[in-house]
Amino acid sequence: MKLVMKILAVSLAVLMAFGFAACGAKPAANEEPTETAASKSYVIYSDNAFAPFEFLDTASNKYVGVDMELLAAIAEDQGFTYEMKNEGFDAAMGAVQAGQADAMIAGMTIKPERQKIFDFSEGYFEDGSILVVAKGSAISSVDDLKGKVVAAKKGTTSTDYAESIKDQYGFTITYFEDSPTMYQTVVNGNAAACFEDFSVIGWAIKNDGIALQTVGEVVNPGYYGFAVKKGANAELISMFNAGLANLKASGKYEEILAKYGY
Ligand code: GLN
Repeated sequence: MKLVMKILAVSLAVLMAFGFAACGAKPAANEEPTETAASKSYVIYSDNAFAPFEFLDTASNKYVGVDMELLAAIAEDQGFTYEMKNEGFDAAMGAVQAGQADAMIAGMTIKPERQKIFDFSEGYFEDGSILVVAKGSAISSVDDLKGKVVAAKKGTTSTDYAESIKDQYGFTITYFEDSPTMYQTVVNGNAAACFEDFSVIGWAIKNDGIALQTVGEVVNPGYYGFAVKKGANAELISMFNAGLANLKASGKYEEILAKYGY
């Protein structure tokens, strides 16, 4: 009888120990008992016409480009899934801020003003803005923009730059949602110039035969980063950074850039 009691007591102690251990493993009451990163599928927004970073491949009817391939490779490396929505640059920023999107990757330049409302990954590509005019245009510097109309894409660093110098150089700005419409306005002569990321306008001139040319040097260089709303989805930023480091180590990062001419 005594032995039975002892066995029971020991069993009870073991059970309690396990029980407490199990309790300890549970999230504390103030932690969100949400899905794990592995089970959650993220909603990620992007631009829709920003080659070579994201653009519609008409043959496959799929969005391709550096950003699309980097994200796909990083998600595979880190084991997360996502739904991609190519809605435009300003729309993507709005969707992330509204909590409608978990993140965005859209050739988005990391800069202090944005860091107040977004958290960024490590930079993955360096670029800056350049003045763009119609092929054969007489405009040879921003000094020639006096009294002219400059086309600008909403929400971009190029537009911030144009706005910052418009009074000094005496031009007015007309706004567009996307890069192709902005380019077309300059080609048609409805605007004298626009500002665009150097690598992106370079691609459009070279690969799409857009009748535009760049003027002068790149201004405001910076790095593109993957972004989430400030304070949200921290695990997604960690996974992006870890995946990017792995892709750099494996040579996959270089391979993706090389595919698009870098
Ligand atoms: N790099 C620019 C920015 O961050 C433009 C991005 C874009 O048009 N997709 O504002």
